[in-house]
Amino acid sequence: MIDNDVNVVWLKRDLRLSDHEPLTQALESGLTIIYYAFEPLLVQDEHYDERHWRFVWQSLQDLNNQLAPFNSQVYIYYGDAIDGLNNINQFFRIKNLYSHEEVGLLTTFQRDKTVKNWCLTNNISWYETPLAGVIRGRKNRIDWDKNWLEIMTSPLSQPALSATTLVDASTVNNLSTTELPISWLTINKKMLRGGERWAYTTLQSFFDARGKSYHFDISKPLASRKSCSRLSPYLAWGNISLRQFYQALLLQRAERGWKKPINALISRLHWHCHFIQKFESEHEMQWRPVNRAYRNLNYPDLYVGMTVDERLTKWKLAQTGYPLVDACMKCLIDTGYINFRMRAMLVSFLCHHLLVDWQLGVKYLAALFLDFEPGIHYPQFQMQSGVTGTNTIRVYNPVKQSQEKDPEGQFIRQWLPQLSELPNELIHTPWQLSSMEQQLYQFECGITYALPMIDIVETGKIARDILWGFRQRFDAKNEGRRIVAKHVRPKKKIKETSTIPNDLLTPLSR
Ligand SMILES: Cc1cc2nc3c(=O)[nH]c(=O)nc-3n(C[C@H](O)[C@H](O)[C@H](O)COP(=O)(O)OP(=O)(O)OC[C@H]3O[C@@H](n4cnc5c(N)ncnc54)[C@H](O)[C@@H]3O)c2cc1C
Repeated sequence: MIDNDVNVVWLKRDLRLSDHEPLTQALESGLTIIYYAFEPLLVQDEHYDERHWRFVWQSLQDLNNQLAPFNSQVYIYYGDAIDGLNNINQFFRIKNLYSHEEVGLLTTFQRDKTVKNWCLTNNISWYETPLAGVIRGRKNRIDWDKNWLEIMTSPLSQPALSATTLVDASTVNNLSTTELPISWLTINKKMLRGGERWAYTTLQSFFDARGKSYHFDISKPLASRKSCSRLSPYLAWGNISLRQFYQALLLQRAERGWKKPINALISRLHWHCHFIQKFESEHEMQWRPVNRAYRNLNYPDLYVGMTVDERLTKWKLAQTGYPLVDACMKCLIDTGYINFRMRAMLVSFLCHHLLVDWQLGVKYLAALFLDFEPGIHYPQFQMQSGVTGTNTIRVYNPVKQSQEKDPEGQFIRQWLPQLSELPNELIHTPWQLSSMEQQLYQFECGITYALPMIDIVETGKIARDILWGFRQRFDAKNEGRRIVAKHVRPKKKIKETSTIPNDLLTPLSR
């Protein structure tokens, strides 16, 4: 054992070295080891996929590149977080543990309780910093927005990196890349790459041009890939803090022609924390509807000859016969991203048109979203599936969405090449091709591409009747009132500052 007291900064979904309060505090207090654990409890969890661990690995490599000038590196461990901490504690004496609060799945909450006990037993103080504007243990939203704004406009917390305080973790590092799956170490060019550097490159490219049409293109499956910020995985894995993003947006808003898109984007940053706060305040929504009355909502089995499993499988495998639904799923499987509206439509198709319980699809999409963030994903999934009893019920018609959001079928053609020869007016409804048109376009309905698995006009009506009917129940309304009191922000809006703090560092100057 080396007779040195050290601080440990435990990285989780905060894989960056800037605007990092736990790291700032640790370095101010003395010798510091930066630590990350690939935890089997998450690696093996159904919500996660190799795409996530690749992104994390890339982020860690980026951190190590930044730490190299200080002769330091992240101590990376493959195993239970507590075992890695024990390892460090055998070489050094851990005095303090620093981390961000995690608003995660139940398993991480339970793991944190074990770590807390371990800290107590080993006489280690654990300091946790709140995650962006999320407040732990909050039971209502009084003054919540005020707190959010204060945090977002306060100066960034920039750690003073130095070779004298950063410990070289190579003395304890025992993870070799041969222990990690090769797929994690291999770049997938179709997906965004992890790391602070890439977060800023992506943000800069948004400001350079592509973001000007943000508010026009946000709902279009193809155009949104360019015009949306695409910062979501970087925020979800913490390559950039929400505050850094927010402050960069304030600077950009001052530029000519940027007011509208930036204002639209800033409102989404409020939502980011608003949704995570919901999950923090009622984490049971991981396994039950936030509106408890909806536990009694039975999804009637109307599909003679098609079991729930068969319906679910067709949705998962992009074989529904509805081009936009299948194109979205294929795109998601390949690239880890689709825009908000198409996510909502995929959930609506599963839960409304196919009458499949939301809990059967929620993990599948989590594993596909490179930006999977439990605190956004669960409340959004429930909202879109109509089990909150408080939000407007939106039963999306995938044909209408297709005609409106992809009128020339460019997105569909890209992901369903078997439809690429069809003219614009037929690409949204290929089952309507006449025999003559099938010959003309060398397309065989049901062979070249699946026939629709259901009739959405019929299923849409059934879903609306069920959901609106259920909403009138006494218990659903009662729960609705409870939800509003707990999770809804007061109507009175606080004035968003238009000024930038004096000591604001330009986040893009890194
Ligand atoms: C069923 C469903 C599941 C979702 N799951 C996730 C998830 O796991 N992780 C995730 O980051 N987003 C999730 N979203 C929200 C949203 O679709 C994504 O944040 C957005 O598409 C990411 O792309 P972007 O970064 O280009 O977004 P932009 O439009 O550029 O927005 C910037 C940021 O604001 C936040 N944001 C934007 N829209 C929303 C929203 N509706 N709710 C909450 N925050 C928002 C995100 O952090 C996003 O990165 C989900 C939406 C639905 C309907």
